[in-house]
Amino acid sequence: MEMTRRGFVGGAALASIGALSATMLAGCSQESDASEPLAESGADAAAWDREADFIVVGGGGAGIAAAIGAANAGASVLVLEKAPEKHAGGATSVVAGIVNMWSEDKNPASNWVQYRTMGYKSAERGQKWGENLPDLLDILEDHGMGWETGSRPESGPGNIADHGPALYAALMDAMNEAGAEIVYESPVTKIVTNSETGEAIGVYADQNGSQVAIKANKGVLVSTGSYASNPELINSIHLPGFEYFSEDSPYNTGDAFQLLAGDLGAATMGFRDIEYDTPAIKLASKEVGTSVGLAKAFAVPSYLYVNGAGSRFMPEDLAIMHNKDVAFPWLAHSRRNPDANEDGFEVAMENYVNKTSFIVLDQACFDAGSLGNTNWTWSWSHFKDEGDSGYLWSEDNQAELAKGWILQGNTIEELAQQMGVDPTALSATVANYNQMASAGEDTELGRAAEAMQPLGDGPYYAIELGVSVLFTTAGIRSDDQDRVVKWDLTPIERLYVTGNAGMNMFVSPGVLTVLAAGYTIGQDVASLDAIQA
Ligand SMILES: Cc1cc2nc3c(=O)[nH]c(=O)nc-3n(C[C@H](O)[C@H](O)[C@H](O)COP(=O)(O)OP(=O)(O)OC[C@H]3O[C@@H](n4cnc5c(N)ncnc54)[C@H](O)[C@@H]3O)c2cc1C
Repeated sequence: MEMTRRGFVGGAALASIGALSATMLAGCSQESDASEPLAESGADAAAWDREADFIVVGGGGAGIAAAIGAANAGASVLVLEKAPEKHAGGATSVVAGIVNMWSEDKNPASNWVQYRTMGYKSAERGQKWGENLPDLLDILEDHGMGWETGSRPESGPGNIADHGPALYAALMDAMNEAGAEIVYESPVTKIVTNSETGEAIGVYADQNGSQVAIKANKGVLVSTGSYASNPELINSIHLPGFEYFSEDSPYNTGDAFQLLAGDLGAATMGFRDIEYDTPAIKLASKEVGTSVGLAKAFAVPSYLYVNGAGSRFMPEDLAIMHNKDVAFPWLAHSRRNPDANEDGFEVAMENYVNKTSFIVLDQACFDAGSLGNTNWTWSWSHFKDEGDSGYLWSEDNQAELAKGWILQGNTIEELAQQMGVDPTALSATVANYNQMASAGEDTELGRAAEAMQPLGDGPYYAIELGVSVLFTTAGIRSDDQDRVVKWDLTPIERLYVTGNAGMNMFVSPGVLTVLAAGYTIGQDVASLDAIQA
């Protein structure tokens, strides 16, 4: 890899990144010829374009909290963010804001963290997160973050007022006041390590097509979020053969894997689960570019789910959101596929009949309200503007019918033809469903009687469904101080990872934990001695 400092200090790059401070550039220790190649590693090798005490890779909740913690402790901080300013903030900028307060007295942080990490983090580390969280929340409240109930819950569940956008605005405000700096459109492409000591000494970032080298005097944090927007990676880690649609930031493509596992041999962990959500509306999601979700409830429940064979396959009232026990059977099992083994698990990927699935409904259900995400489904598509990977579904479903995202047929047979499903099979399924709904008992799959209503008059409608990924949590393994570890579990000094890029959490950590961990890392890095040049 050949890198020069031409692009970074050139006028175009300066203009695009806004406020590169002259003082920080002045701190660069070495001058180099613009065409002089930079070595990839080695204590004395890099001709740095600029420097900071602490470099944060990824400006979501973990990264910005870390920047606040470090800057308030006196460190100079540079956050490098891959997205342009209007798309920055990652998952954190679109959270629903439902949080669980873990305070020391009522819900000991140490136990909570140990339970959720299955012991990968110590009681002491959990304690530190637990002690730091209220301090950070004080700061965020001072910068405009509020609570739906008016005041911060002492323990247990609560809701951040105005959701992710308000949380992210408070984080940015606090970070700016603390004096940390962020540059956008600067994806980090490599972590630079000292070839003798192995410690992290800086990063390479891509700016306007040029590579720039930035020195980290004290440490580097990788907080690049989840891999929800990398369907190929999801397919290779989780169930193959399905189309996955992300509700997370489109910039969250799992870059930590390349930066840390690929380049530096870091260990990975925790791939048991991903956070699913209510099914995605397939055609809408494809067109919009991020997952457009199906509504989470229907005022008139005259609907059913069917697979590509025209059969029901799961009780439709079971919530898939955060629920692996439901999502996995939906994806991988079929009670009806003749090729399934005795546990119902598909034998061959091409035979996953649930790979194709639809919701089928009648006119009454269609008329009762929005079938897609409106104001209580939190996802990237909900918060971003149309044309910017965002989409807000209409209240009367007419716009989506006109777009062809909803199929329509005067009869079930006609609808089946449009769906590409055997009309006889679908008719039989609907007849059977109607009979059970009228009798008030789902003898087939156990859907609650009050959540079922027979399909009445047509026309009838169908929407093809896909798998919606809220976010992922597995990734890079770290030690008790959140330093990246290699496969032999030795830490890479001065290199940290947290947030959805890898928290050692076996169940989703939630945004408060991400913030507390990031803030703690920022303080830890600020307290380190600078590398001796
Ligand atoms: C729709 C949705 C709803 C949610 N609701 C809740 C909720 O109600 N409660 C809750 O507790 N949790 C919720 N979560 C989970 C929570 O949002 C996340 O766990 C948390 O915000 C993750 O923070 P993070 O900093 O790790 O990642 P993110 O906030 O995703 O930030 C990652 C950042 O890294 C940047 N980046 C990526 N690659 C690079 C690179 N190579 N170089 C530089 N920058 C890079 C990205 O652009 C992004 O800005 C929700 C998540 C989603 C997606």
